[in-house]
Amino acid sequence: MIITKADVKVVKAPLVSPFRISSGQHDELQNVFLRIKLCSGVEGFGEAAVATHITGETVPVTLLNLKEASRALKGRDISDYRVICQEFRSFFKNNHAALAAFEMAVLDAWCRSQKMPLWKLFGKRAQRFSTDITIVIGTLKEAEEGVRDFYKRGFRVFKIKIGRDEGEDLLRVKAVARLAPRAKIILDANQAYDSRRMLEFLSMLRSVHIVPQLLEQPVPRDDWEGLAELTRESGILVCADESVKSLEDARKAVGLQAVSAINIKFMKSGILEAEEIVRFARSHGIKLMMGAMMESALSITAAAHFTAGLGDFDFVDLDTTFFIKGPFSRTPVIDKRGYFDVSKETSGIGLKIKM
Ligand SMILES: [Mg+2]
Repeated sequence: MIITKADVKVVKAPLVSPFRISSGQHDELQNVFLRIKLCSGVEGFGEAAVATHITGETVPVTLLNLKEASRALKGRDISDYRVICQEFRSFFKNNHAALAAFEMAVLDAWCRSQKMPLWKLFGKRAQRFSTDITIVIGTLKEAEEGVRDFYKRGFRVFKIKIGRDEGEDLLRVKAVARLAPRAKIILDANQAYDSRRMLEFLSMLRSVHIVPQLLEQPVPRDDWEGLAELTRESGILVCADESVKSLEDARKAVGLQAVSAINIKFMKSGILEAEEIVRFARSHGIKLMMGAMMESALSITAAAHFTAGLGDFDFVDLDTTFFIKGPFSRTPVIDKRGYFDVSKETSGIGLKIKM
């Protein structure tokens, strides 16, 4: 089963509202898609979600790298999919969004050629699960509207982005706790605090009886001591996101006892290394979150297969399709309340993209 064709394309889609975090924002979705085609006519699709304000990667470089890789892919046999993915890893050394798209398309094409759903590469059954929903950085009124809407729809885990202004952070977290009384709260500072200020912030929350379930990336990614201090002293789960982008980073985080949880994202490590990080973290008692960058339905559905197949993720943050308008937000595997079920998919990721 020979790969005969590969195309790359930049896809844009509007967002419902800007997706704002402490380090920057997305005003629209602008991702790079890869389609590969086998001699049998079977196709495979991949998506690179470029988050320049988080990873420094850019759309033009991602496009260029994927185009070059596409040319080199032609003539290869898809049944060597593991070898192909291994071989191309170094090619995408500083461009892991492109690596993720590449692996996604190769694995999708392989699974489709076998008439097998993607989740079967990762486990024996497809577990169902639900995602949290993100309250992005914004005004108190925007936060209140977001919480009311999603709480009414049935969401019960809210991930609140913090880190632009401590006073406003406090008001927004209190608003979520008030308007979503039965919901769990996750905080994500995207590196914006230091450990002392974060401990103070948590104690202010505790004084009004708010205890977040998990604290994500409170301090800059290289501040391992700050992470370790928070893990020791905060009394809550501390999760690495920007600090852990590879298996090597995960080993370091575990070795330093810096965190109690890791956020796994295809765009940070590619798909196959993401699986290695999951297995490593589990063997060391580290909790896991499955997360995403600003990924459209294709990549989110692929991540859902991964989550369902590996099973037992402690936290799932695959909510970006709720922030995207139009066809790139649509996937049959998520319902309106954020529940995922990939068990009915029969072939690959299950989505076809017009290119
Ligand atoms: Mg994060």
